[in-house]
Amino acid sequence: MTSPSPASPSPASPSPPQPSSAPLLKAENIRKTYRKHKDTIEVLRGVNLEVLPGEFVAIVGKSGSGKSTLLYCLCGLAQADSGSISLCGEPLDAQNANHLARLRRDHVGFIFQDLNLVSALNVADNVLLPSKMAHKPASRAQIGDMLRHVGLGGMEHERPDNLSGGQRQRVAVARALLRQPEILFADEPTGSLDPATAKSVMQLMRAGVTPRSSLIMVTHDLDLAATADRVIVLADGVNHATLRHPTSEQLFELMQQAS
Ligand code: ADP
Ligand code: MG
Repeated sequence: MTSPSPASPSPASPSPPQPSSAPLLKAENIRKTYRKHKDTIEVLRGVNLEVLPGEFVAIVGKSGSGKSTLLYCLCGLAQADSGSISLCGEPLDAQNANHLARLRRDHVGFIFQDLNLVSALNVADNVLLPSKMAHKPASRAQIGDMLRHVGLGGMEHERPDNLSGGQRQRVAVARALLRQPEILFADEPTGSLDPATAKSVMQLMRAGVTPRSSLIMVTHDLDLAATADRVIVLADGVNHATLRHPTSEQLFELMQQAS
């Protein structure tokens, strides 16, 4: 970071650079409908969301309320029917598929609810894969450190199929964190972890949020959601409520109202 020289103050000098407050993610009026046989399910009916650099935003809502669908739309893995989304200042709707793939590769991390580990690769190569694709090479030592941080020290050579659900989840977390994305989308990243491991994984993800990056996490764990800077309660396809630094009791009450 540059700072103005104290030796040369002048009224005509340009003001020092300010931290950018442009949102890393801005979504307006997102709508998404699925068709199942003859039925139409209006999953998202006008969701709005803005996330600033440095923010940790949690999204909660009952099962089937469209949380995963929303995350997929926000990162361009699914296409919203209407509405506008910009990610790292780039409008998603106006981009072609290759550009979108590059944007995700270079700026976005994703911890999928169904993990998407590559069973043909061992743990270390799974963790390395997105960094390799983003041309952000990591050393074996860095991979080993990251695995130790998520409680998988020494498991570099294991295959995902030989791990428990909780261990596989931690591989997915390590994989997303290793490359330090500007925006990390996490879909129930602690869903199959015991409370102690969930807490340490959460601390690790929280520590990955810098003044220039953001974490957007879907969770059903209201205690974890309450550690976010802001919590969005999703219900009936819209933002039912937004709370800043809520308690888990407040969230519980809102979830009850929403159901
Ligand atoms: P959540 O993550 O909140 O549990 P989802 O976003 O997974 O909710 O799903 C919201 C609704 O959309 C559910 O009713 C689900 O069955 C439906 N849905 C999700 N994905 C698809 C799909 N690819 N095709 C059809 N329906 C889908
Ligand atoms: Mg889901």
